[in-house]
Amino acid sequence: MTAATARRIVIENCAIATVDAEGTEHAEGHLVVAGNRIESVGPGPAPRDLPGVARRVDAAGHLATPGLVNTHHHFYQWLTRGLAQNCNLFDWLVTLYPIWARIDEPMVHAAARGSLAMMARGGVTTAMDHHYVFPRGAGDLLGAEIRAARELGVRFTATRGSMDRGASDGGLPPDFAVETTEEALAASERAVAEHHDPSPGSMLHVAVAPCSPFSVSTELMREAAALARRLGVRLHTHGSETVEEEKYCHELFGMGPTDYFESTGWLGEDVWMAHCVHMSDADIAAFARTGTGVAHCPSSNARVAAGIARVPDMLTAGVPVGLGVDGTASNEAGELHTELRNALLISRLGPHREKALTARQALRLGTAGGARVLGRQAEIGSLEPGKLADLVLWRLDGLGHSTIADPVAALVFGPPAPVTLSLINGLPVVENGRLRTADEDTIAAEARTQSRRLARLAADA
Ligand SMILES: [Zn+2]
Repeated sequence: MTAATARRIVIENCAIATVDAEGTEHAEGHLVVAGNRIESVGPGPAPRDLPGVARRVDAAGHLATPGLVNTHHHFYQWLTRGLAQNCNLFDWLVTLYPIWARIDEPMVHAAARGSLAMMARGGVTTAMDHHYVFPRGAGDLLGAEIRAARELGVRFTATRGSMDRGASDGGLPPDFAVETTEEALAASERAVAEHHDPSPGSMLHVAVAPCSPFSVSTELMREAAALARRLGVRLHTHGSETVEEEKYCHELFGMGPTDYFESTGWLGEDVWMAHCVHMSDADIAAFARTGTGVAHCPSSNARVAAGIARVPDMLTAGVPVGLGVDGTASNEAGELHTELRNALLISRLGPHREKALTARQALRLGTAGGARVLGRQAEIGSLEPGKLADLVLWRLDGLGHSTIADPVAALVFGPPAPVTLSLINGLPVVENGRLRTADEDTIAAEARTQSRRLARLAADA
């Protein structure tokens, strides 16, 4: 498709936060989308007499931003929300592992549809999932998630997770919930070969993602890093989430989590880690020096009482930081707007509050920051000509927002703003607050059916 023949969407009369490197904003501006790319962004009305305009949107009362980018999630947990409500991380995991060990393909497909629908409806245009529970005979779980993302039209980074350190090897998960090291590596390689699409504008990336230091052997950590680098894909895991994890690493490895990651080849600009709550100055410096990214998950960290990540210090040091919903068993809300708001507010509660985040920094974490963490900053995360057309029109003239003076403050400090239009790859996925690519009520009913099935299987076990 050439520029002359591209189908165009013209959006006008809205405030625009481009989240480009300079933080360019327009109080009233326009966007032109041609095919799956942004063609122009600027102040005032769009150029007249553009050919091929299929749709013209009068977006008065709205703020346009890049689509939100989620950098950490566990879709399958959609079926186990509201359990272990008052546990810290390790007790929460020990309670839930035996239930999660019963998941199968229809469950994961329904959970992925629920998770993706919730996020897409709230302005997420790039989703990510970290799936690491692969019970024997459960079917093609990664394939089920990928199918769900394709059905809903959401850009997706799937990760093939793994656990090979069961309780009998000193790990936290029960033995029946883990794979062997060889199985995990072979399946990770197969997932990349079958699904990873590195082409420009890709809707699907795959990364390699052993679960955490307390559920994965040192051999698997090392070999997974080598595998990902051989295949040219990214690496993801959980790191430095809780004081218990820090203690575990010192006892088992004689060093803290960041030193352990460094010793296994796990610091680098092709790596991003969820949480990174308990980080010393030296840990933050090591992340900055190596370009290792962080998926900051403030709601989940609060839910399991993990602590407050030092995000302002990370940003000052130059660490790439994005936002994550995390699994919905530790963040029942399951949508990313909450994380913009909580990242902002929680950063003002901790010991680093004098350097706390601004609303614009929070928006950047949820867009350009997330794009960088996923290695996609050249294509998504800001509204600039040539980038992929992943964008959201937030309605700010309604009850919740009409009296908040600054549109970016309205979006971040205010209640979740209704999404009037969300484009992913140039196609409308949300219109007037409802998904266009699937029926939300059907998704809710199917997820409930599978959630009950899982509860029954776990109770009978
Ligand atoms: Zn997680």
